[in-house]
Amino acid sequence: MNIRAHLPKTADAVVVGGGIIGCSTAYYLALAGLDVVVCEKGWVGCEQSSRNWGLIRKQGRHPAEIPLIIRSLELWHELEARISRDIGFRVNGTLYLSETEKRHEANRKWLEHARAFDLDTTMLGREELRTVAPGIQNQTWDALFTPSDASADPHLAMQALAELVVEEGGQILEQCAVRGIDIEAGKVGGVITEHGCIRTSSVICAGGAWTGYFCRQLGIRLPQLKVVSSVMLSRPTDYALKPALWSQGMGLRRRPDGSYIVAPAGNADCPVTPDFLRFAKSYLPTYRESKEMVKPRFTRRFFTELSWPTTSSPERRSPFEYERVLDPQPNRALLGKAHRQLGAIFPELANIRISRIWAGMIDVMPDELPVIDEYHSLPGLVISTGFSGHGFGIGPGAGQATADLVLGKTDSSSLISGLRLDRLG
Ligand SMILES: Cc1cc2nc3c(=O)[nH]c(=O)nc-3n(C[C@H](O)[C@H](O)[C@H](O)COP(=O)(O)OP(=O)(O)OC[C@H]3O[C@@H](n4cnc5c(N)ncnc54)[C@H](O)[C@@H]3O)c2cc1C
Repeated sequence: MNIRAHLPKTADAVVVGGGIIGCSTAYYLALAGLDVVVCEKGWVGCEQSSRNWGLIRKQGRHPAEIPLIIRSLELWHELEARISRDIGFRVNGTLYLSETEKRHEANRKWLEHARAFDLDTTMLGREELRTVAPGIQNQTWDALFTPSDASADPHLAMQALAELVVEEGGQILEQCAVRGIDIEAGKVGGVITEHGCIRTSSVICAGGAWTGYFCRQLGIRLPQLKVVSSVMLSRPTDYALKPALWSQGMGLRRRPDGSYIVAPAGNADCPVTPDFLRFAKSYLPTYRESKEMVKPRFTRRFFTELSWPTTSSPERRSPFEYERVLDPQPNRALLGKAHRQLGAIFPELANIRISRIWAGMIDVMPDELPVIDEYHSLPGLVISTGFSGHGFGIGPGAGQATADLVLGKTDSSSLISGLRLDRLG
């Protein structure tokens, strides 16, 4: 399709980014009757939203996110009922093993949050664990278990969500990068895309790992970094582990076809970029706690990002167009380690065959919590980003809360009160 010829001249709202956050926001805006356009520089779900493990979990979340994930799970059930085909949505629970005293303490502490929010989380002893995870071999103290947690196939879910946006009257423009925002009299006046301008008074920035750079061009400080997370997919096998499982250094989820998503849980590479140096101080407290999990790596990416212009221009091609899709290389060493660990914990899966490996670039914030907020210095701009590796599960709730901000509704205010931008200074 010739996008230039079909580019709408105006819209009630324009969403930058066609990931789960952008598409969920667009869906709830379209449901409310707004004329909404999603601009996606690549294709729907091309970055994090279709590369993730597909976990929709309450377990292990920061308390500031728990009200939103509770709402999200309700919305996932609603969406599943509305979508007429299988998106792999299953309620199978989440299991966190406590293999060390430190992890036992962390799991025990989290149980207090679960109680405060009246969740169905329990601590399983060794015998109960063997019932839920037959054949498990490791010496674990106990395990945290939330049976009502779910999962879905990210790729199928994203396609279905995009179709719902269109069914409700929204438009999705793929291969349509937004270069910047047109500001009129101190307010949002439109978006400047690579194909021309769309006039609008509301822009939602849901650009995932690109949001920090997008905001910097507008003079907004958003201390967002990226980490690379690697994943592998096995061939289908008969051994059936129902819940998704996290152990130290390895995560596992069975898909409805009997294959497994296996990944080095909690282990990621952090590319050293100019933003890495710019925001290093904000990340120090989190880094000190997790330095054995995140490894800074100096790569060519430093120079790529150093060359990015500091302001946007309607005429000039932007980095959003040079690099349509962030597609990092998976870390084979980390994947190999996770594979060996899988075999040690579940001997029946030791020789499982791997059919595919990939990686995704995760956007993170210093406190590992997202930002869902209006940017008050530029009326009309809403930012919804920084989901720090757990935005798929929370996507529908985050999208609804973001839409509520655009609509001026206060229905979701209590769900996102801990996710404001000003907490970052
Ligand atoms: C390997 C991996 C495993 C994960 N596992 C889980 C999990 O099990 N459960 C969970 O809840 N979360 C998980 N996550 C995190 C989750 O995938 C993300 O938090 C979530 O997908 C973020 O959604 P998003 O819409 O904000 O970002 P994205 O999906 O990255 O979408 C942003 C989109 O914006 C587009 N864009 C950016 N800038 C522009 C522009 N200027 N113009 C036009 N388009 C633009 C990009 O092309 C991109 O498609 C995982 C992530 C990864 C990578």
